[in-house]
Amino acid sequence: MKLIGLIGGMSHESTAVYYQTLNRLVAQRLGGLHSARLLVWSFDFADIAEYQASGNWHQATEDMLNAARSLKKAGAQQLLICTNTMHYCADDIERETGLPVCNIIDAVKDQLIANGIQQVLLLGTKYTMSMAFYRDRLSADSGPVVTVPNEQHQAQVNDIIYDELCRGITTETSQQTLADIVRYYRNQRGCQAVILGCTELGMLLDDQRCELPCYDALQIHCHYAIDAALK
Ligand code: GLU
Repeated sequence: MKLIGLIGGMSHESTAVYYQTLNRLVAQRLGGLHSARLLVWSFDFADIAEYQASGNWHQATEDMLNAARSLKKAGAQQLLICTNTMHYCADDIERETGLPVCNIIDAVKDQLIANGIQQVLLLGTKYTMSMAFYRDRLSADSGPVVTVPNEQHQAQVNDIIYDELCRGITTETSQQTLADIVRYYRNQRGCQAVILGCTELGMLLDDQRCELPCYDALQIHCHYAIDAALK
C-alpha cells in the first residue's frame, strides 16, 4: 500500500472526514486491523483563505508547493489535495514534485461519465464556481455540461462555506438555502445531478436532503485515492 501525503487543513473540518474515510475504506478493502498509510500536512487555513481573498494565488501556490515538497521528503508516494479550490495548482504540484496527484476533478468526472450524467450543477467556493480550472477540466473531452449558479447564488454558497462550514457551524437555514438553489437549477436548467465541489458541503447536503443526486467530491476522491494506493 502506498504512503499517501494529504495536503489538508482547508478546512480542518473536512480534513478530519478525509482521515476517517480513507482509513475506513482501507479497513473495508483489506479487512482486519488494516488502515491507510497517511502523512497529513495541515495548514492554518486563515493564511490560505487570506491569499485567496486578496487574489494572491501565487503565494497560495508557493505554500502548497512547500507542503508537497515536505511530504515528498517525508516519504509520500502519492499526494491528495484535500480541497477542491486548491486544485487550482494541482498540475504545478505534480510537475514540481514528480509525485502523482490524485486529482479530485478527474475522480468526479469519471463517476459522472460512468453514470451517464450529461448536465450537472457545480456547487463550491466562488473560486471553484467562477474560475475556469474546475469547469474546463470537467467538461473537456466529452465530459458533462457544467452549470454554475448565478452571482447571487454563488455569493450565498460561498458565504455558507467560509462563514459557517469551515468554522464547524451547520444550520437548517443554510441547508434549506442550498437545497433551494439545487432545486432552482434542476427546474430552470435541467441539471440531472449536483457536484458537492467543496469538501465541506457534505456537512449539509446529501441524497436525502436535496432533490438531485449528490456527487460528493470528498467521498469520490477518497475512493479514487485508495484505488490508486492499493494498485
Ligand atoms: N474545502 C473547500 C473546497 O473544497 C474550501 C476551502 C478552500 O478554499 O480550500 O474547496
